[in-house]
Amino acid sequence: MRRIGLLGGMSWESSAEYYRFVNEAVRDRHGGLHSADLVMRSVDFVEVEALQRSGRWDEAGALLAREAQGLVAAGAELLVLCTNTMHKVADAIVAAVDVPFVHIADTTADAVRAAGLERIGLLATGYTMEQDFYVGRLRDRHGLDVRVPDEADRRIVHDVIYEELCVGVVDDGSREEYRRIMSALADGGAHGILLGCTEIDLLVGPEDSPVPVFDTTRLHAERAVDLALA
Ligand code: GLU
Repeated sequence: MRRIGLLGGMSWESSAEYYRFVNEAVRDRHGGLHSADLVMRSVDFVEVEALQRSGRWDEAGALLAREAQGLVAAGAELLVLCTNTMHKVADAIVAAVDVPFVHIADTTADAVRAAGLERIGLLATGYTMEQDFYVGRLRDRHGLDVRVPDEADRRIVHDVIYEELCVGVVDDGSREEYRRIMSALADGGAHGILLGCTEIDLLVGPEDSPVPVFDTTRLHAERAVDLALA
């Protein structure tokens, strides 16, 4: 088993999910007392969020590249960045280390393709929904047709992530809003919904959507285990 490096804390609410999913996947496959061989680095999200909000992505990239190097020094043989949004700086991380980087957009796109779908809705942070680093990769590398909510609904999705899910608040009213937004995406022609933020699975799941959902957190964790056990 190769040692997995989890780079998390963005937020720790979802990093805890990664830790659980990775260990569960190893136990499911190997049984008994088996668990994942992993190292985890969890940053203080307040620093990263401030860099996001002020558009200092280069600094964020340098910070995460240093942390990734620390994970490799601790024996990580593949790297998992436990957030969709910070994949905006994936290139800086990839350039800083010589172990495989498990890109969350590629992992998710493979699952969408395996399900035979092409037109999908995306729920994520405003950065992920509105900038090109994520939607563009899904489009250009994987041929997916990605639809995002309208501006008002993007704001709701974004605010629920930062003001609620990342601080441990799971609210029924917000779940209703996400349900409404997922239905609107499906009505607009989306054949599936990407839960493109690693905290969203804390709020909604397949039972909340009229079309299949693709949970980036679970898919990413499972891909990491596939690679670690290959
Ligand atoms: N975990 C989230 C994501 O997957 C949002 C927090 C962050 O900005 O990293 O995008």
